Amino acid sequence: MILILEPNTDPQGVPYQQLIDYLARLPNIRSRVHQEVGTQQTLTEIYLIGDTAALSVDDMRTLPTVERVVRISQEYRILGRHRDDARPSSFEYNGVTFSQDNLHVFAGLCAVDNPEHVERMLQALQQHGQVCTRMGAYKPRTSPYAFQGHGKQCLPYVFELAGKYGIKVIAMEVTHENHVREIRDALELTGRPTGVLLQIGTRNTQNFELLKAVGRQQDMPVLLKRGFGITLEESLNAAEYLASEGNRKVIFGLRGMKTNMGDPHRNFVDFAHVPVVKRLTRMPVCIDPSHSVGTRDRGPDGILDVMHVTAQGVIAGANMILVDFHPAPEKALVDGPQALRLHELGVFLQDVAIARSAYEQRCALAKQSPQ
Ligand code: PEP
Ligand code: MN
Repeated sequence: MILILEPNTDPQGVPYQQLIDYLARLPNIRSRVHQEVGTQQTLTEIYLIGDTAALSVDDMRTLPTVERVVRISQEYRILGRHRDDARPSSFEYNGVTFSQDNLHVFAGLCAVDNPEHVERMLQALQQHGQVCTRMGAYKPRTSPYAFQGHGKQCLPYVFELAGKYGIKVIAMEVTHENHVREIRDALELTGRPTGVLLQIGTRNTQNFELLKAVGRQQDMPVLLKRGFGITLEESLNAAEYLASEGNRKVIFGLRGMKTNMGDPHRNFVDFAHVPVVKRLTRMPVCIDPSHSVGTRDRGPDGILDVMHVTAQGVIAGANMILVDFHPAPEKALVDGPQALRLHELGVFLQDVAIARSAYEQRCALAKQSPQ
């Protein structure tokens, strides 16, 4: 059960203390307080864990400072959607709002290779009015002999160039908790010219110690990719690990499933799950068409498969697109064959806008039609 307190409830105030004293006396119930400090107000939620079936929602609603009570009926206690649950499905980071109702494109390099390519990429993004990108510094690779990413050594120039071109958020994978510290140190060192969305890749979806470490920090939000060989439920529980440690600024990423049923695509595209994740949880949903499709093949209509599946995800309500671009894909150190070229960025964004507008029209139609 979750008790949502009146905004800006004073933790030193008498009513709050009365509430805490009352909760402490309830048999077989533990409580855990979570505070979300926003620019306008501070929201406090109290999670009651244990024998909550015996508690009545109506009784709990009459307690001092309690504004709303949500009985948790399913899994995903923190990130899930529950009955009468009006908690938000959005958050803000570094001036960018992430929500189940909007859409951001994170086009960029799968892996940072050199400052020139980073700069050309970011310049193109700025020319197209984009404020988000992807830049891999720590790359989990199948072969130990393959390029593993430049790691912390490239962070200062990536962050400085991002600041120069007005980039507010960079999605960057971490595979170890040390990487979080290295990113934080480099942001500090360069004067915070940009922000970082920490990405947990599909190979680490169930790396619980990494999830706990990334969940314990709250200065950077997290993009958690679905595990490529586990159920959706298992991946959503992995997201809940982040939230249970304190970080609720979580985006859930679909990136295709590993099975040869999806051949000739690199992974079996799972974007039909966009509305499912939005229904079960309050997380914004990201799609990764590049790692799903893995090629630059196109249909007889002239449209790249990567763009077809992007449109499929967006028309189903996706909130973020993580997509590989590269100024010289033939020279890319990782995933060159699936990267789009810089001159394709404008068309890509226009195609996304068409699909998004179709999604918005579909929402309006659904609102008018009887359910
Ligand atoms: C990536 O986005 O660079 C990546 C490695 O993705 P995934 O973890 O989905 O394979
Ligand atoms: Mn890649």
